Amino acid sequence: MRFWHSAPAALIFALACSAQEPEPDSGGAEYVVAFSDDDFPTAHVTAVLTVTGGAITMSDFWASFFDDPRGWAGFVTIESAQDASGAALPVAETAPHGWLLGDGYSGVATVAYTVDYSFADQRWDAGNEQVALHVGDALFTTGLPLFVFAPATTSARVRFELPDGAAVATAGPDADGVYEPTSLDRLLRNALVVGDHHQSILEAGGMELRIALLGEIARSGDRVERAGADILNYYVEMFDERRPSQFLMVVIPGPNDGEGYFDSFASSQPNAPVDHDVAVWAGSIAHEFLHYWNGKKIASAWETRAERQWFSEGFTEYFAVTALRDLGYVDDRRFEEIMSQYLSFHAFFAVNPNYADVTLRTAGASKWANRPGVYDSGTAAAFCLDGEIRAASGGDRDLSDLMRLMNDRFGRTGDFYVYDDIVAAASEIAGRDLSAYFDAHVSGKEPLPLTTCATQMGYRATVDGYHVMLRSLDQ
Ligand SMILES: [Zn+2]
Repeated sequence: MRFWHSAPAALIFALACSAQEPEPDSGGAEYVVAFSDDDFPTAHVTAVLTVTGGAITMSDFWASFFDDPRGWAGFVTIESAQDASGAALPVAETAPHGWLLGDGYSGVATVAYTVDYSFADQRWDAGNEQVALHVGDALFTTGLPLFVFAPATTSARVRFELPDGAAVATAGPDADGVYEPTSLDRLLRNALVVGDHHQSILEAGGMELRIALLGEIARSGDRVERAGADILNYYVEMFDERRPSQFLMVVIPGPNDGEGYFDSFASSQPNAPVDHDVAVWAGSIAHEFLHYWNGKKIASAWETRAERQWFSEGFTEYFAVTALRDLGYVDDRRFEEIMSQYLSFHAFFAVNPNYADVTLRTAGASKWANRPGVYDSGTAAAFCLDGEIRAASGGDRDLSDLMRLMNDRFGRTGDFYVYDDIVAAASEIAGRDLSAYFDAHVSGKEPLPLTTCATQMGYRATVDGYHVMLRSLDQ
């Protein structure tokens, strides 16, 4: 099915907004985040936190990136702390990432601190899209290095104070210069951009997509906006997404990679995007953007995350590549090459002794070590299930119907799904029980029937060992 520009995106440019004074709130945290021309990108933060037993902390999420056992807290200097009456509170470091205010102070505390962002000048093995990046007069960061919080913090109100002419891009509406993440996870695990960058806002359905481009990537603003708009429209149509929502997409210079956050993602690209490598950069955007649905909205409980990775990553990649083909960013021939590569890696995964005890369902326990079992085999499974559903329904339904059902059932309700829910939903869409198929190829070690899948999808597959070549039937 093709969704060509069915809801043209409106292009609006962000405006600088005026600020409001924060008001302490017993449930939420209040932050004023200030940057100055004098020491950019050092952040000067004032936090008003409701504290119990004196405990404040930085997140331990991804803290293991750093040699310093303090993790993110290693870059933070607490300048002062005051109790509700304005009296100074002594501050002591606590292991592993926290501080103790006073002698176990409980109440509203005002904490002033700075974040030394010199680490954002380095290249990080994890990828700067997971850490931070200082480029020119702009800073990309997440909330992880920026926000000291109390264990009881459940929401936040963040106001930015910036030098004249500097802009901010957040994952939420920032009317009047205030950004209000609705959970601690959303505060910490979302992208932010501050300073000189190219910013635009696209709208489709109920969705508002904010695009922030840093460094040399900004030179390709028109191209990235066009692709962003096309991909946004495609997904909004695919999921029939009409409810209001906001999303931030950041593209930073760096090795090709990407990271999805709660209402945002960061894509890292080695060059200013140009047309000839559109499959790479637009593919990365299409993949990370789809995680807004498949991975964030359509989500499982933390304890069962390992057994859904083949679905979260593989189906996301399959729809990203399919979207690029349907939108005309890659031609049929290139689509066949890309899909051939995924199918080949699945064939390799199926026979390689290193993966003798690993199935698609268990591969997610170690995403990096089992990459061919998660990403490639997950994409191959999506291709095969697409064929299975089309064949079983006589062409009436396809894999996008399964994705829509998963979004209606879990994305829109906020209920977590488990593995059996995928089997049930796929069976429902196919109109026949697919549990034996899942038992064999996803929970089990039996290779996906690639030649059958190819035929069901209108291709011919030549399988030579673990080299799989996909060609359309009319070639
Ligand atoms: Zn992914």
